[in-house]
Amino acid sequence: MSASPKTSRPKRKKPIPRGLPRDTASKLFEILAEDRPDPRTELDFVNPYTLVVAVALSAQATDVGVNKATKGLFQIADTPEKMVALGEEGVAEHIRTIGLWRNKAKNVIALSELLIDEFGGEVPRTRDELIRLPGVGRKTANVVLNEAFGEPTIAVDTHIFRVSNRTGLAPGKTPDDVEARLEKITPPEFKKGAHHWLILHGRYTCVARKPKCWICPIAELCRFKDKTPDPAGVKSEPAKSSLGPKHPGKTRT
Ligand code: SF4
Repeated sequence: MSASPKTSRPKRKKPIPRGLPRDTASKLFEILAEDRPDPRTELDFVNPYTLVVAVALSAQATDVGVNKATKGLFQIADTPEKMVALGEEGVAEHIRTIGLWRNKAKNVIALSELLIDEFGGEVPRTRDELIRLPGVGRKTANVVLNEAFGEPTIAVDTHIFRVSNRTGLAPGKTPDDVEARLEKITPPEFKKGAHHWLILHGRYTCVARKPKCWICPIAELCRFKDKTPDPAGVKSEPAKSSLGPKHPGKTRT
């Protein structure tokens, strides 16, 4: 008699935990905002167009690496017209040190052509229009809307995704889930800066491998269970400098 096949129970989906209470979230932003009242991107740019290009180039690359590459590029091409005149090969010459440079050079030219053809060479101010540009997704569009046009958008990158989940601020399985929860939980007065505060916190303190919990200014509000102990074995005071360099990027708008 053949053994009856094991009945496999349907796997139960791990529930997404509840987010932090509203007043805790508010306190968290208050603390992050205290040290950096006017947070800015660490990418260098000279106008909304060069910001679009810089953010598009920053996928899978560091801001420092992108800034090195764009320094020379933006000196000779800071408008879509000049970029198109430089051509794909010319752009590629400048950005060879960045990952995926071939594809990115192609996109920079394509998005510049589209800006000229359909938007009179100006960067559009809506997300729907921005995401029509080659190489520009929702995340890039949100960064541009926030940084260039002062919109209270939150672009969820790898740092924000990690910090939102670890702290319990806005847990979610996908960047879109996290963005939606951040939209709900972030008090209006912190919406414009939230994107930068969370990125900088993730970049300098709540780092991927070994978060620096012992100097973290929001440790008491954070729900992360495996907080990293102080390597010196002493409980340090949270240092304000743990939030990273105070005036990082040289934005020139
Ligand atoms: S306590 Fe640790 S895990 Fe929590 S936010 Fe701070 S650095 Fe990140």
